[in-house]
Amino acid sequence: MSFNHKKKFGQNFLTNQNDVLSRIMEVAKVNPDEAILEIGPGEGALTELLLNAGKKVICVEIDRDLEKILMRKFGDNPKFQLIMKDVLTLDFEEEIKEKVKVVANIPYYITSPIINKLIENKEYVQDIFIMVQKEVAERVCAKNGKERSVLTLSVEYFGEANYLFTIPKEFFTPPPKVDSAFMSINLFKENPFENKVEEQEFFKYVKMAFSNKRKNILNNLSGLGINKTDLKELLEKNGFSGNMRAEEFSINDFIKLILLLKGR
Ligand code: SAM
Repeated sequence: MSFNHKKKFGQNFLTNQNDVLSRIMEVAKVNPDEAILEIGPGEGALTELLLNAGKKVICVEIDRDLEKILMRKFGDNPKFQLIMKDVLTLDFEEEIKEKVKVVANIPYYITSPIINKLIENKEYVQDIFIMVQKEVAERVCAKNGKERSVLTLSVEYFGEANYLFTIPKEFFTPPPKVDSAFMSINLFKENPFENKVEEQEFFKYVKMAFSNKRKNILNNLSGLGINKTDLKELLEKNGFSGNMRAEEFSINDFIKLILLLKGR
């Protein structure tokens, strides 16, 4: 009997058309000494390949209806571990306990919360290889241009994101509305930004700079109580302009600006 896919859990399963699963394995480069975390194994299409390649595969799945299917397929494999729960409530310290490489076709309805959760637990997360909506991958990996957002900067502050390849919607069952992309996030071992501007401070400015997409940086940052005339002068003196939008600022521009504002 075929599985009844649930829209509410973002269940678009991969079929191995055009070798998409092998391509994932090729770029994720799973070593026999690596522990893998797979978020949302579904019916286990990717899990099987991960089990063959890695030391151990910890799967986190929310849908109880998939538990039996997964246990029937992989229950006898000592490398397989299944945690039945919402990944957003996963306690890495209690339940993961080791460094993992994340390789997953994640549920798209919680893409940002999942990325943020993985970053928050960077102590346990080495590298991240995930499939997301194509537009989201483009936004996260945008080095410049209007696709940049708070999410882009959140990732840039902690690591390096790369767009790897596109997967057309027809490669899934059922096909989603949009195409997908496979991307990686390599979290920094030594964070080059953290000792310049503290995390909380960085996000306070970044969030305010992006708070109104139609407004320029001058108007948005004045929301932090900074005098507009002073701010305009400071921007212009340092190679920026008050008319620039937040998306035109690279992470290094943001760091420079924050340091200038703090040093006034
Ligand atoms: N990896 C499978 C594949 O590629 O065929 C399935 C991918 S499907 C896009 C997303 C999977 O995540 C589904 O199995 C779904 O049940 C599961 N899921 C949805 N929400 C979840 C959550 N909050 N925590 C853990 N798993 C979740």
